[in-house]
Amino acid sequence: LTPVPSDYEISRAQTPKQITKVASESSIPAEDLEPYGSTKAKVKLSVLEKFKNRENGKYILVTGITPTPLGEGKSTTTVGLAQALGAHLNRLVFANVRQPSMGPTFGIKGGAAGGGYSQVIPMDEFNMHLTGDIHAISMANNLLAAAIDTRMFHESTQKDGPLYRRLVPVKNGARKFSPSMFIRLKKLGIDKTNPDDLTPEEITKFARLDIDPQSITWKRVVDCNDRFLRGITIGEAPTEKGMTRSTGFEISVASECMAILALSTSLKDMRDRLGRIVVATSKSGEPVTCDDIGAGGALTALLKDAIKPTLMQTLEGTPVMIHAGPFANISIGANSIIADKISLKLAGTESASEDSGYVVTEAGFDFTMGGERFLNIKTRNSGLVPDLVIVVATVRALKVHGGGAEVKAGVPLAKEYVTENVEMLAKGCANLQKHIQNARSFGLNVLVAINAMKNDTPAEHEVIKKYSQEAGAIDAVISDHWANGGLGAVKLAEKVVEITNDVSLPPSKDTFKFTYELSDPIDVKIRKIAQNLYGAADVEFLPAAQEKLELYAKQGFDNLPICIAKTQYSLSHDAAQKGVPKGFIFPIRDIKASIGAGYLYALAAEIQTIPGLPTHCGFMDVEVNDDGEIEGLF
Ligand code: ADP
Repeated sequence: LTPVPSDYEISRAQTPKQITKVASESSIPAEDLEPYGSTKAKVKLSVLEKFKNRENGKYILVTGITPTPLGEGKSTTTVGLAQALGAHLNRLVFANVRQPSMGPTFGIKGGAAGGGYSQVIPMDEFNMHLTGDIHAISMANNLLAAAIDTRMFHESTQKDGPLYRRLVPVKNGARKFSPSMFIRLKKLGIDKTNPDDLTPEEITKFARLDIDPQSITWKRVVDCNDRFLRGITIGEAPTEKGMTRSTGFEISVASECMAILALSTSLKDMRDRLGRIVVATSKSGEPVTCDDIGAGGALTALLKDAIKPTLMQTLEGTPVMIHAGPFANISIGANSIIADKISLKLAGTESASEDSGYVVTEAGFDFTMGGERFLNIKTRNSGLVPDLVIVVATVRALKVHGGGAEVKAGVPLAKEYVTENVEMLAKGCANLQKHIQNARSFGLNVLVAINAMKNDTPAEHEVIKKYSQEAGAIDAVISDHWANGGLGAVKLAEKVVEITNDVSLPPSKDTFKFTYELSDPIDVKIRKIAQNLYGAADVEFLPAAQEKLELYAKQGFDNLPICIAKTQYSLSHDAAQKGVPKGFIFPIRDIKASIGAGYLYALAAEIQTIPGLPTHCGFMDVEVNDDGEIEGLF
């Protein structure tokens, strides 16, 4: 329709297929499906074992240029391309996306189901509770937070003997260690199975975590943009006997539990990572873990269903796999390894000669942040190298990089965005070229998707094509899937099929290379990313960051990959610097650790881990009509 109706109207106008039908069309065996109503279902990890001998399907990574705050259409392109491959070119294709946080849904950004005629449906179910994974993450995170403070409370009010006897109580006539206690005993080098055999020194060592309250990094979480929880004091009731402490909340998707969900490769791997979470340091300088507190098993129990991806469908009935949604500011901002692994097997074939299916997976932010983390962190954990990188570009954002006025939500577009301006666009193409070159530096093939918007002109599209090819992209293809659904992305899909079946191109797993080695010192890893990909002249480590370089090297955490937290609105650390900034000194203010998830994150900016709400919020537009349908979500 012209004009294109709102997202929720488009979503509602389509009757979704029964999810069991989507599953059977996607080669998911009925016994591996757990329906949650008729439009959503969880997919069991048993499919991995069942199809382990299959060749993987083709793996397409969708990323983008440095965006404007409006978003340049990565999710929309992911869904549109999947609709084109699936509903128009008859391939089995999975669109793999993150589960959105409800914070932004009711805040400023709106939903994340794609948009226009390229959407995941029903979009309201997708954007809200889905199958409860984020709630499970919040619960697991907050159980651990409660466990930390309560443990400190009990340690402060009890002597060693009674503390130990209460930690390991008599049950059915005998004291017994729980499985997680054996993990702690092993770490302490105490090789005993009978709790009554521990010496008084061993009892003290075992029972006292002796957490330094100043060192606690674990916060509570809620999936809501509630800025008044950024800083709070806990323990104010008289029952806590004066044990107050300053702490704060983060948004649920910023929880390390979410990053673990995204990076785990199996249930066992998730259990081990949850146990390895470092929550604090003891007064003697030792890292204190979730398993030291005895919560690793319980956290795994809370997340045992969350580890299964959720199946939904696009507007054109092709399968979508939704799983995990780690906060792109301080985490990888990509969906899960498990969802990609399952989809690659489902889209795979019994032998390499057959025509295989596709998995179109999305990385948040631009290529140089989201794509870099995807490849240096997610791929390093999964071993799955994309066959092709798609960089989504818009005329609008490239004009911003060419000197155009700032683009903001709720503000009318300036003249340069509604009329042709080839010179400004050509200048801005330097930004696209840098992202293409960065993707090429991993040894991967690159295709540019021009997400067509209504004010674009053919001459402008030609400019993008020319600069893309010049920078080493195989091609740039115009796609108007937002206005025309899968049909609008058929040319893009045909190009994807052509490239991924081109035998003259060497397989990407043979040409792929990381930006850094894990064995590089932490500062070297950060320099390699900042200088080679962002274009920095050098990196400056501020005092807090320098201390952490030493601390993590001492604690043996220096062999982990790095996630750099910076603005997504510039290749540099400064959102105001558009295009391709040069000669800047990239500042690292602090470095933090997500040991369970398995990376360090370096902060190049003050990063808010719980966003606030604007004056006009998304929630103000939401209503439920008399038929029980949700209106006003976008
Ligand atoms: P990203 O994933 O890059 O953040 P999205 O795909 O979520 O971007 O798109 C951001 C917003 O822009 C969505 O509301 C989407 O509907 C809208 N949008 C995307 N592509 C177009 C287009 N070609 N024309 C108009 N609106 C679009």
